[in-house]
Amino acid sequence: MTETVKRPYVVGNWKMHGLLSSLPSILDIDRAAACYAGVDVALALPFTLINPAAITVEHATIGGQNCHAAHEGAFTGDISGRMLMDCGARFVLLGHSERRLGCGEDSATVRAKMRATLDDGLAAILCVGESAEQRDAGLAVTSVQEQLLASLPEDLTPADTITIAYEPIWAIGSGSIPQPAEIAAMHGAIRQTLRNRLGQQAETIRLLYGGSVHDGNAEALLSIADVDGLLVGNASLDPRRFRAVVRAAQQASLQPS
Ligand code: PEP
Repeated sequence: MTETVKRPYVVGNWKMHGLLSSLPSILDIDRAAACYAGVDVALALPFTLINPAAITVEHATIGGQNCHAAHEGAFTGDISGRMLMDCGARFVLLGHSERRLGCGEDSATVRAKMRATLDDGLAAILCVGESAEQRDAGLAVTSVQEQLLASLPEDLTPADTITIAYEPIWAIGSGSIPQPAEIAAMHGAIRQTLRNRLGQQAETIRLLYGGSVHDGNAEALLSIADVDGLLVGNASLDPRRFRAVVRAAQQASLQPS
């Protein structure tokens, strides 16, 4: 098996936060991306900020947090991957637990959105994660593997750019995170699942950890085996804290492996 060295990837998920008056914060984050050039820095923004941010930033990549599975059509209130691409987004988060649980999106829907997104030329960040009940029942790994396989398009090709974000549902916004060994085991299981499905292509896919990441725990999280980057919610809204996470990723990339 050839091991591929991957650039660390740090993605901020702003969720339903931010107004046009937030552009200075986005510029601060863009400066962090310039300063720590060994890290790929991205922001998943609300629709209303995607274009203003995309035409302003020079170093960070701007993306969306959801899109429809159709390219266009009679879907009032929805946005397609093609529209995201058109206004400057270059990736989209899909399958976030807040959409799976809050908007009733099942893995079949996520899979259809993944295919449409990739066809539109966007990269996709697929979010997967177990509930507290699944973890307590000893089903964390199997439920995440099942969710991953059901959400990935059957016909992925090397031209499709995907990232997997492991986000335990119970860790999001709670201040609790899994033990390092639990994260390592989960990322190892995700990598193996990808190998079984995709062969050598699996080695190039970056696996992010997300859920209560902040400037105080980023370095430790990035030292865990098979953690190639971080998905950061709340702490990404504060440019100072997010910058510290990006700096930790740069430092981690300089450590001998
Ligand atoms: C998220 O929901 O994607 C997330 C990472 O949230 P937080 O960092 O706030 O837990």
